[in-house]
Amino acid sequence: MWGLMLTISAIPAFSDNYIWCLSDAASGKTLVVDPGQAQPVLNHLARKNLVLDTILVTHHHPDHVGGIKELLASFPDCRVIGPADSPYQGSNHLVRPGDEVVWKGLTFQVLGVPGHTLDHIAYFTDVEIEGRPVLFCGDTLFVCGCGRLFEGTPAQMRQSLQTLRALPGKTAVYCAHEYTLANLRFARSWLPEDEGLKQFETQCQSARNAGIATVPSVLENERQLNPFLRWDDPAVIAATRAYCAKQGLPADSDNAIFAAIRHGKDNF
Ligand SMILES: [Zn+2]
Repeated sequence: MWGLMLTISAIPAFSDNYIWCLSDAASGKTLVVDPGQAQPVLNHLARKNLVLDTILVTHHHPDHVGGIKELLASFPDCRVIGPADSPYQGSNHLVRPGDEVVWKGLTFQVLGVPGHTLDHIAYFTDVEIEGRPVLFCGDTLFVCGCGRLFEGTPAQMRQSLQTLRALPGKTAVYCAHEYTLANLRFARSWLPEDEGLKQFETQCQSARNAGIATVPSVLENERQLNPFLRWDDPAVIAATRAYCAKQGLPADSDNAIFAAIRHGKDNF
């Protein structure tokens, strides 16, 4: 750890993906998360004179793994760390929930977060980088939103989000997409009286107008604002029960409340 000068930067890819790039300025050694495209990563590495030595994979979707083969052609010794039980077969270092990943003396915990996909994992370190513990959570938790349930059940996803919700409040949440404004439009429609959401929307709108990323967010803000982390918040329960009554959906448990919010967003 000593002697490292770590920075995290966003490499934009496709229309709204962020490939997170963690690099050590002292050695130039670099880790990237979910490189769905190779060229933007190669450009970034060349511009900053960095050497890719590790790739972290959160789940099998092509916009997260599509660039790996091409990156390995340029960096053949690169470790590709990814979930063991996954349709993606390109990882050369398989991990399971509960495992640890060590990069340059920095330890990441591997968290199982099924829901968006069944193979989805997240990487968390309580070592502060740029002043905060770091969570790379792929498509599980977004700023004021969460991933769609392509493979898992609402109960699995709520459990996964409960795992993430329990991390330290000051954790920086590095998710893989810039979906914030769309998520906020939904959240504001669900909870129109929520002053915190109103203020945060104004803040994020200004950031986007200035071309600034809204990611990472801070976990304690997500706990206060993100409807998908608030299945046990009385204001969210009340709003969701009203929706359930109209839609004929159950609203009798944490999982039912969470499922109904996800249903609302899917049909928004
Ligand atoms: Zn995905």
